[in-house]
Amino acid sequence: MALRLVILGRQGSGKGTQAIRISESFGCIHISTGDMLRAAVAAGTELGQQADAVMKSGGLVGDDIMNGIVAERLAADDIMANGVLLDGFPRTSDQADALERIGADQGVAIDLAVNLEVAVDIVRERMVARGREDDTPEAIDKRLSLYEEQTAPLLDWFAARDLLATIDGVGSEEDVFGRLSAAIDKVSQ
Ligand code: AMP
Repeated sequence: MALRLVILGRQGSGKGTQAIRISESFGCIHISTGDMLRAAVAAGTELGQQADAVMKSGGLVGDDIMNGIVAERLAADDIMANGVLLDGFPRTSDQADALERIGADQGVAIDLAVNLEVAVDIVRERMVARGREDDTPEAIDKRLSLYEEQTAPLLDWFAARDLLATIDGVGSEEDVFGRLSAAIDKVSQ
């Protein structure tokens, strides 16, 4: 079965690491919109030029641009065959609605959204420690407050569709992966 999953969680929650493990274990293709945008910035494409300043400031790239990029990627044969784990998308209600429409057009639907729950104080410490170029204290605070404002309501969006599993993201990588796997196993039968 080609699983279609979403992973949600604050930046710094360990989401990226766990996403790679889930995609390896369940055979679905890991799509990180942050990685796609960083690649576009590095390649100097038109998208990259548009996204660069927004990303550096910790803001969000516009919904229309993001919805277009993701719709195009989800239509590719590899994803239709193997399924997908979306990491970093949707980030707003508009993006969630777009994801639902894209699925309806393709005759597929999201099977589960896993929410990796790690408290704000813990993720802030982790982000400062990892020292990425776009991780200035101002950008970190802006991202975290944007998450509360725009992304946290997505939890309700998925819960209302009975698609949400919240997973305790504190613990060893192995323990957290075990919890995630158990939740995904339930929908992959
Ligand atoms: P991430 O690697 O997921 O933390 O994404 C890095 C940056 O890329 C974010 O801070 C946003 O500026 C941008 N970005 C990634 N995904 C999205 C999205 N779905 N919507 C808007 N902006 C995004």
